[in-house]
Amino acid sequence: MIPRLAFSEQTSRLFRDYLNVLAAQGFSGELHHDFGTRLVTATDNSIYQITPQAVVYPRNAEDIQRALRLATEPRFQDIKITPRGGGTGTNGQSLSAGIILDCSRHLNRILDVNVEEGWVRVQPGVVLDQLNDQLAPLGVFFAPNLSPSSRATLGGMINTDACGKGSRIYGRTSDHVLALTCILSDGAKLDVEPWEAEALAQVKSRDGLAGSALRVVDEIVTEKAEVIERVFPKLSRFLTGYNLAKVYGNDDGCFNLNYLLAGSEGTLAVITEAKLRLTPLPRHKELLVVKYESFDDALTAAELLVKSDPAAIETIDEKILELAKED
Ligand SMILES: Cc1cc2nc3c(=O)[nH]c(=O)nc-3n(C[C@H](O)[C@H](O)[C@H](O)COP(=O)(O)OP(=O)(O)OC[C@H]3O[C@@H](n4cnc5c(N)ncnc54)[C@H](O)[C@@H]3O)c2cc1C
Repeated sequence: MIPRLAFSEQTSRLFRDYLNVLAAQGFSGELHHDFGTRLVTATDNSIYQITPQAVVYPRNAEDIQRALRLATEPRFQDIKITPRGGGTGTNGQSLSAGIILDCSRHLNRILDVNVEEGWVRVQPGVVLDQLNDQLAPLGVFFAPNLSPSSRATLGGMINTDACGKGSRIYGRTSDHVLALTCILSDGAKLDVEPWEAEALAQVKSRDGLAGSALRVVDEIVTEKAEVIERVFPKLSRFLTGYNLAKVYGNDDGCFNLNYLLAGSEGTLAVITEAKLRLTPLPRHKELLVVKYESFDDALTAAELLVKSDPAAIETIDEKILELAKED
């Protein structure tokens, strides 16, 4: 059963002080701590419910910088900030007892499209269907897919390294990320793209969290390369989490932090912009329905079916069919 919410009407003094200072420092988006707003963001698509103390809606990357930088001050060090997209995550990842940083309300613009070069630049709150509706007349699309595509945002997809139907041939979200702009927890902005040795040395020499974080990551993936290679599962869809194996694990030999940020569930940085790879729309689509006597027969046949290289094979058992008939 879904846990009951603790009804605490009042946002605590600490959080109200934080919001007041943030407003005074020029935060241009919205800052809410009314109970209605907090209640709405107390749920996502998981079985959990947690009421946040406040919800902030940044209007631009500078707002996110202001919010994170202020939270580094000793007086506000107990404040936790959690980014949120469409709230379709199923594990409670966008819930927080602290502050929700909602990237979906204002940061939802498609910034630039270049079909010849095969990329699009988006803000994190762009919803997948919104993006693909805009791209369709150009004959291209963003290939990673999931069923809540009418609500899930690109920021959320990147941070869960989402993939659904079609991942057999198109891969995961991280396979389609070309560059990311993000804000680190100290408020510093970091532009991330695959770096060759010289460029990496330059970013590693940066002051502050950006430089030190990159030095640590490079040290881990270099020194622990053998363990990472041995223990990381070889799954085409991988898992959500820190994908250390892919930081250097690509054909170009570059250091690619995008793979670590993708799937990091907002724990490493807040994404403010993404440059994503476009894929030509398939010219033809075919749906084939095959009926089997038993579920085991269907599973056994998958091996044969996969040889024809379909985008996806979905298995539907009698239970789902019966439920669908009653719907
Ligand atoms: C019916 C259903 C089917 C689903 N099917 C699939 C599926 O097939 N494949 C799949 O992969 N997932 C699936 N999901 C899970 C979910 O839809 C995905 O994880 C989706 O990518 C989440 O996007 P969102 O915008 O809703 O993110 P949210 O749920 O709001 O957030 C997800 C995570 O991303 C972080 N985040 C959001 N925005 C940012 C940002 N700008 N910067 C940093 N971190 C950020 C949040 O903190 C959180 O950790 C499904 C969910 C449902 C309800």
